[in-house]
Amino acid sequence: MLKEIKIKREQSLKEDSYEFFWINSDGEKKLATQNLVIGNQVYKEKLITKKGIEYRLWDPFRSKLAAAIMNELEIFPFKNKSTVLYLGVSTGTTASHISDIVGSTGIVFGVEHASRVARDFLDRVASHRTNVIPILQDARRPKEYFSVFGKVDIVYVDIAQPDQTNIAIENCKMYLKNDGYFFLVIKTRSIDVVKSPKRIIEEEIEKVKEYFEILQVIDLHPYDKDHAMIIAKFLK
Ligand code: SAM
Repeated sequence: MLKEIKIKREQSLKEDSYEFFWINSDGEKKLATQNLVIGNQVYKEKLITKKGIEYRLWDPFRSKLAAAIMNELEIFPFKNKSTVLYLGVSTGTTASHISDIVGSTGIVFGVEHASRVARDFLDRVASHRTNVIPILQDARRPKEYFSVFGKVDIVYVDIAQPDQTNIAIENCKMYLKNDGYFFLVIKTRSIDVVKSPKRIIEEEIEKVKEYFEILQVIDLHPYDKDHAMIIAKFLK
């Protein structure tokens, strides 16, 4: 089932066809992406230049996608030219690394409904990166994203809402290509404070299964408490 793009976890800088990199910093191998906007920092992350190429360290304690990579994510469909619809982009920490990866010919459509947060996203990320299109909208109303054109390769959802899975599915129906990939962050406590996290994840998986092939479910501990990520493929 998981026959597609297997992540190579220890990656040499010489192999520049990969999407992210392992860079030596303070005596440790750390995750990084190649900075699309030279000199630009988004969340005070460290910039490291090696052989004339600038990298940004990608902090798994700040980004759930980085945490998933650290916790053995098996499929990584984000690549040069990918198009991504990102719901709950917040101030853009993770979105900025996806922007690095998809490069200037890819696109990240970033949806955020909180205007103060969206302003930070504009200042820190969208105003510096031509491949990021900010959409100040409620993810419950996907018909109102007037700037999304065509269908995307990946839908990434991190909105921490009790009905987030249903919202995500509606967005996928409108904007995800057949066979496209779906990344859903589940904040177990925001769905139900009484049910056990395991039970909540199982229930969300059941909802997702109706439209998707489940590829992997990852617990994001210790980088992120009470979060899991479901990775799935759209069947339609
Ligand atoms: N994904 C971000 C990252 O890794 O940097 C963190 C996302 S944060 C946990 C959740 C974000 O989703 C918040 O900024 C919140 O305002 C936004 N959000 C929640 N409900 C939303 C909705 N219905 N439509 C759009 N954004 C929403």
